[in-house]
Amino acid sequence: MYDQIWLVQLKAPCYQCGEPSVLDGLCTTCYEKDHPLIEVKTPLTLLACKKCGSVKIPGGWKKMTISAADSDDLWPHQLDILLDTEVKPLVRGIEITIEEEKRLDRVLHIILKILGKSHEDLPPHEEQYNVEVRFSYGTCDTCGMKSGGYYEATLQIRADGRQLKEEEEDDIIRTVTEMTIAQYGSDDKAFVTKISSDRYGMDFQIGSDHLCRSIADVLESKYLAERKQNYKLVGQDKRGKDKFRTTILIRLHRFGIGDFVKVLDKPCQVMAMSKAGLTCFDLTQRQRFTMNPKSSKWRTLEYLASKNDRRKFMVTTRVYGQPAQLMDSETYEITELDESLLDNDVEAGSTVYGLTVDDVFYLLPSE
Ligand SMILES: [Zn+2]
Ligand SMILES: [Zn+2]
Repeated sequence: MYDQIWLVQLKAPCYQCGEPSVLDGLCTTCYEKDHPLIEVKTPLTLLACKKCGSVKIPGGWKKMTISAADSDDLWPHQLDILLDTEVKPLVRGIEITIEEEKRLDRVLHIILKILGKSHEDLPPHEEQYNVEVRFSYGTCDTCGMKSGGYYEATLQIRADGRQLKEEEEDDIIRTVTEMTIAQYGSDDKAFVTKISSDRYGMDFQIGSDHLCRSIADVLESKYLAERKQNYKLVGQDKRGKDKFRTTILIRLHRFGIGDFVKVLDKPCQVMAMSKAGLTCFDLTQRQRFTMNPKSSKWRTLEYLASKNDRRKFMVTTRVYGQPAQLMDSETYEITELDESLLDNDVEAGSTVYGLTVDDVFYLLPSE
């Protein structure tokens, strides 16, 4: 007890103002003045892209997240990006509050309120910084390349012996869009310059060669498609290096989901297509199987018929142990079928689908 009082009395006064010193020969006030919480310059310049709102930061452009880009007031998001690079914390664990003081057309006055400790032995205190932010506008690298029609690669989607189906087109456009958005933040060339679509298929001109390859990878495995890639010399870059443009062709099979194929000469319906392989329903064995393009079965794969070639039937009678009768909904012809092949919940009046191949009737799996 006595020792502590003795020690306090021994402390020298602050060498700057004469108040009792606390740390390094300084009082709290002088210590905090000498050890500010942050460092920030004023005025700051905020260079933003007039097209997409990206903010110039050292070494590139920081893109707006999609949700921020949609908001009416872009500037608070842009200001956050700017302050993130311009405010240098000098101690750990500070809290920053931004207050808008005055906003003119291109000039913004803000007050930064910083809460933190100059030294871990001192209590937290608040500092205020008046900062002027001047807005200027330009074109970011991405928007510049995009408007200049820049592209490194073309992705061509075709289908073997047929046109692309609407659901395939929709799915492919969705895949391209989602993957482009996912890459947008990290790849300046993640954009699509042009999409064209005609009866032969679809073409995408893509800013980034890398993005084009990634999209092709996904589509190739999803549709178990054939892929061809080639390069064309398009000139030289500034350093005299040859510049190539890639074209990737993804050719979808003639069959799609629901269509009919022959595997080992047996009629099958295509049930699913994915990275794992092609899932078919064998209409003779009445069971599913999955095969991948490397399997020996795959080499026997042939197109048989479109899913539109299936026919719709109404079950007219179903009695246990007797052949069930099905009526073709267009021709009203009656077909007989082994009753045990029907699902349990199928009864007179139910609708089923079938396909006739070489005069043999096959009942299709229920959807
Ligand atoms: Zn002092
Ligand atoms: Zn831009």
